[in-house]
Amino acid sequence: MSIPRYAVIGHPVAHSLSPRIHAAFGRQLSIALDYSAIDTAAEEFDMTLGAFAASGGVGANVTLPHKQRAARACATLSERARRAGAVNTLTLRGGEWHGDNTDGAGLVRDLTGRHGLDLRARRTLLIGAGGAARGVAPALLDAGIGDLYIVNRTSERADALADALGQPGRVHPRYLADLKQFGEFDLVINATSATRTDGLPDLPMSLVGARTAAVDLSYGEVAIPFLAWARAAGAHDAIGGLGMLVEQAAESFALWHGVRPDTDPVYAHLVEHRASLVTAD
Ligand code: NAP
Repeated sequence: MSIPRYAVIGHPVAHSLSPRIHAAFGRQLSIALDYSAIDTAAEEFDMTLGAFAASGGVGANVTLPHKQRAARACATLSERARRAGAVNTLTLRGGEWHGDNTDGAGLVRDLTGRHGLDLRARRTLLIGAGGAARGVAPALLDAGIGDLYIVNRTSERADALADALGQPGRVHPRYLADLKQFGEFDLVINATSATRTDGLPDLPMSLVGARTAAVDLSYGEVAIPFLAWARAAGAHDAIGGLGMLVEQAAESFALWHGVRPDTDPVYAHLVEHRASLVTAD
């Protein structure tokens, strides 16, 4: 019998850690699986997904820049994927794709479990409104954060995300250029991919206070500029996205295989080899 195929689909995706993480989970639980990385451009996403299913693909993770497109390719969506309008986990059911989003659960589990943060009532700034921001925002609200401010290079996308979240008294889209006016936040999350291309947007240090946790959803060298900015501004915590990556993968793995792996040894192994991590999912 052939082994079911899984993959992470993105662009670029060659350095993704997801194949390593899923292989480690499979070894830990004695589950044989074939998990690869598939690089495809935005306009070819639907065709690539069709070809993947035709070749025995039954589950896929989706990474930048395809998460919103993946949501549109699904016949059905989980409640959290519907709220996010973005999908990072695809499962083939009865010949059709079902979409879920494990990014938010992965981030909250990493911050509260691994890093011991109490998220309740934290005044929060989310920088970015792409697929990752869409995935984490509903989960942060559900975890009990206080007011959520959203800024994005393209301000219309921040507005659209705030509208989709549907809590006008609590969620506030704002202009990136106005950041100096907002005062301190208890939680600042960088959900942009800006450092991959143009560099970090100009962030005033006034956003950070002695209690602030600063979190970059990226990891490795991509996360260094934001985490260095946060430390220089005096943040209490400066946390990269590696833990979230492992936790969202575990959540996807549990959806596909019905059993949750132990993430701690896999995370510890990746931290030990941190120097070789050059990119992010
Ligand atoms: P995406 O859908 O392509 O969105 C990119 C976001 O970055 C948008 O908000 C975009 O703004 C913004 N951006 C891009 N270049 C910028 C620049 N030069 N200046 C300011 N803003 C800029 O990507 P994504 O899926 O949301 O991923 C975002 C980051 O999160 C990536 O680095 C990804 O690796 C990381 N991530 C990590 C995990 C994890 O498990 N740790 C999971 C998901 C994502 P516009 O709307 O204006 O284009």
